[in-house]
Formats: sequence, C-alpha cells, structure tokens
Amino acid sequence: MLSDFSEKIQSLFKKFRGYGKLTEKEIGEICRDIRLLFLESDIALSATKKIVEEIKNRLSTLEFTTETSPGTLVSNIVREELINLLGKPGNIDFSEKPTLVMMVGIQGSGKTTTSAKIANYFATKENKKPLLVGADVRRPAAQLQLEKLSQQIKIPFFTDKDPFLACEGALNLARSKGYDLIIVDTAGRTHVDEELLDELKTLNERFQPKNNILVIDSMMGQEATKVAKAFFNTIPLTGAILTKFDGDARGGAAFSLREVTGVPLIFLGVGEKIQNLEKFDPVRVVNRIVGMGDIEGLIERVSDIKIDTSKKPPEEIEKWNFDTFLESMRQIRKMGPLEELLSMIPGFSNIKQMKNMIPDEKQMKRIEAVMLSMTPKERKKPEIIDASRKRRIAKGSGTSIQEVNQLLKQYEMFKKMFKSKNLKKGIKLPNFPIG
Ligand code: GDP
Repeated sequence: MLSDFSEKIQSLFKKFRGYGKLTEKEIGEICRDIRLLFLESDIALSATKKIVEEIKNRLSTLEFTTETSPGTLVSNIVREELINLLGKPGNIDFSEKPTLVMMVGIQGSGKTTTSAKIANYFATKENKKPLLVGADVRRPAAQLQLEKLSQQIKIPFFTDKDPFLACEGALNLARSKGYDLIIVDTAGRTHVDEELLDELKTLNERFQPKNNILVIDSMMGQEATKVAKAFFNTIPLTGAILTKFDGDARGGAAFSLREVTGVPLIFLGVGEKIQNLEKFDPVRVVNRIVGMGDIEGLIERVSDIKIDTSKKPPEEIEKWNFDTFLESMRQIRKMGPLEELLSMIPGFSNIKQMKNMIPDEKQMKRIEAVMLSMTPKERKKPEIIDASRKRRIAKGSGTSIQEVNQLLKQYEMFKKMFKSKNLKKGIKLPNFPIG
C-alpha cells in the first residue's frame, strides 16, 4: 500500500529528525521536500498546495519546548497534516429502512466486487440484512459476477430487465422482507460518458438514494480525481471507496480525493477477496504509511479468518514437519500477503533487511508447490528424501533441485535451532493466531 510514497516519506522523516534547529531555511527545505514528494506521487496540485501551506503555517508559529526536539515536532506536524488531508471517515446512512446504496464508478474500478464486500461487511459485522441488486443490465457478465458472489456470501440477489425496474422491484422486496439495505451495482463504462451519467442522474432523481457511493481505483492517480469530479457534478455523492489499496504503485488518490471533491472516504478495498474491505480510518492509514504500523488492523485481520482448530499445529517444536508448515502457511496466507501483514507491525517497515527476507506471494506459491509434490510420508519425515526423489519433487513442482535443497536445508536449520539445549529449555510455540 502506497509503498513508494511510504518509503519516501519515511526517509524524509529521518532527515527531519536530524534537524537541531528550525530557521526559515529548514522550514523552506521541509516544504520543498513535501511538495516534491506529493507531486512525484501523482497527488492533486490543490491537495499539495494545501498541505504545504498548513505545514508552513504551523512550523512558522511553532513554540519550542525543551522536551521535544524540532525534528520530532516536524514529523508530528507532517503526520497530523497527512491525517487532516485524508479527512474524517464517512458513513452509510441508515436513517431509512431499507436504505438505498447506489454504487457508481467506471468499469474495472472494482464496483461489483465492492458491492458484495459491503453486503458481507454489514451482514457479518453489523448484523444487517442486505439485498444485492444487479443493475448493470447491459453487461450480462457483471450480473453473473454479482449473482455468483451473492451466492458465495449467502446474500439474496435481485435483478430485472432494466435498472429502474430492478431498483423498484428491489425496494418492494426489501420492504416486504424487512431488508435493511439495498446495494445497487449500477452500470460502469470503460470511461466516463454522457450516457452513463444520464442514466445515473435519472436513477438518482427517481429513487433519491440516501447513499451514492463512488468506487475509485486507487491506482489511477490523477485520473481518479477527474473521474470523481465528473460523478460529483452529476449526482450528490455521499461517500467514496478506494479499491486496490493493497497495490503498491501510486496511491495518491487517497490524498487528492477529499480535497478535490469534499467527499469522505468510507471504506478501503485491500485485496480481491470478499473480506478484504477495511473501514477507512485516516490515523491508521497514515500510521502505516509513516512506518508506525497498525496493530489494530492486524488484530482485525486475525479475528476475521476462520480458524480450523482441528488443524492446530503441535505446540512441541519437535513434532513439526512439512505438513504442519503447509497448514500454518495456508492459514497465515488467508490474512493477506505476508509483507503487508508485517508492515502493520510498528517499526517493521524501517528494517529493510527484514523485508528482503520475507518471501513474496510468488515465492510462497513455489514453496507450497515443493511441499505438495512430496508424498505424505516425506512431508512427515523429510529425512527420507533422497537425490532421485529430490529430482522428482523439483519436476513435479515446476521448481529446481536447488530450490528443493534450499527448503530442506532451511527445515533442517529450523529443527536444529530449536533442538539446541538453550532454546529447548521450556520452549513452546507462541500462541499463534493460526489455530
Ligand atoms: P467493476 O467492473 O467495477 O465491477 O470491477 P470488478 O468488481 O469486476 O473488479 C475488477 C478487478 O479488480 C477484479 O479482478 C477484482 O478482483 C479486482 N479488485 C477489486 N477490488 C480490489 C481490491 O481492493 N484489491 C485488489 N487487489 N483487486 C481488486
């Protein structure tokens, strides 16, 4: 998430912490650095100007105390201003029952997936009764996709031959069945066009939804604000959801959106899976960006995954083998990419060497493939794997003998490490969240 921006701001913070005094020269330097970072990160000019101005004002009128160094004060101010720029989170308005949630956005932004994510969020976390409505009647694939997702999460689905009939029918159904919210997946186009906006305008006038939610792909950079503006000028948007916030390229849209449209962010999409939706919290987002971690978020992820207690790994390290490794790896991966999870631990992102040690998704899949190519007997007792079996395992898993050897060596080392006398004394596995 925003990893480029994150790395850059963290190195700026390091620089700021080195400041022993804060004269006009340093203040000018700080403002220049922030301006450059924002512009390089594809953040809207108005948002860049705003934050630089705020930081400059606050630094110029700063009262120094002996307790906090100027560098720390600067970092705190920049952090606070990043939080201010993201703005306070918005909400879904439930003042009507059923409440209508119109999901709008261009094709590919993640609108359909996010509709299902929200339905699942309110059903599982807030005990609400949602109804999913497919109103993208021109693209049958979109309808099918939403219907499939609704079956997967066991949420009722409704549609009709045109978006107006779909909304009307859904409202009647919701009233008679006591649904709390109706989430309407409206049509998207590859880019904003008049026809799309007209349809939305008419839908809006006819049904006056309490919630018009714009779904925006956070990888779009500056383009995202243009799209947001076009929708904003057509219907009264009540909130926005940034998807693909797990991607690491540009993510500047988060900082531009609020400033450009004034529309509050409600949720963030942080992955392709249904449960990869986070309530937007500016403090947590900024803390993650500046390397202060997000323990709360990590705990949420852990409590979200369904733990299969029957597959709990043994507490005694001696009893661990490739079967237990495989199961643990699968459970951990349910929570999201390892690097992302570790970045939620305060200070982790400052340790570059650690990052290099973490296998990425591709490497994890290769490791898993090697383990799966072993026979159950071999996974339990890897010592029996001989040279010819190593060759077969490499072939079967589409990897190389070197990779198989490496994994076996790491396993040996792991076992040896925990067998050493000092460690063995009373060592127990930490109470892992995996089971
Ligand atoms: P729509 O055309 O706007 O309805 O977009 P879809 O819901 O079909 O999503 C387009 C693609 O983006 C799909 O491959 C989704 O799995 C993916 N996607 C949606 N949200 C996220 C997200 O938060 N993170 C990631 N990584 N992918 C997402």
